[in-house]
Amino acid sequence: MTDARILLSKVDRTLAYDPFIAKLYQILEEASARGYDFWVTLLFRTYAAQMRLYFQGRTLPGKIVTKARGGESGHCFGLAADLREVWACLGALLWGHAACAVAGV
Ligand SMILES: [Zn+2]
Repeated sequence: MTDARILLSKVDRTLAYDPFIAKLYQILEEASARGYDFWVTLLFRTYAAQMRLYFQGRTLPGKIVTKARGGESGHCFGLAADLREVWACLGALLWGHAACAVAGV
């Protein structure tokens, strides 16, 4: 079983909502106990970063990746976490997956 502190160690937690982080720890520990380990790749995203992501695939190049504008995503309030299965991250190292690069894995 992987310690949830390790799975959360690569992201900035300073702007995340503390009770949310406590629940996230619990979920990560329970998932790990069942054999599923997830890296947390993102917690907080600014309003501006969310708008940039929203415009991707609309007025900016790339594929559409979200329906949420700035302020509509839980990430803007420190109430969302992006997870990536550890095995997928290890495999994705070969292809340089962006979310895994954020997690440093
Ligand atoms: Zn997300």
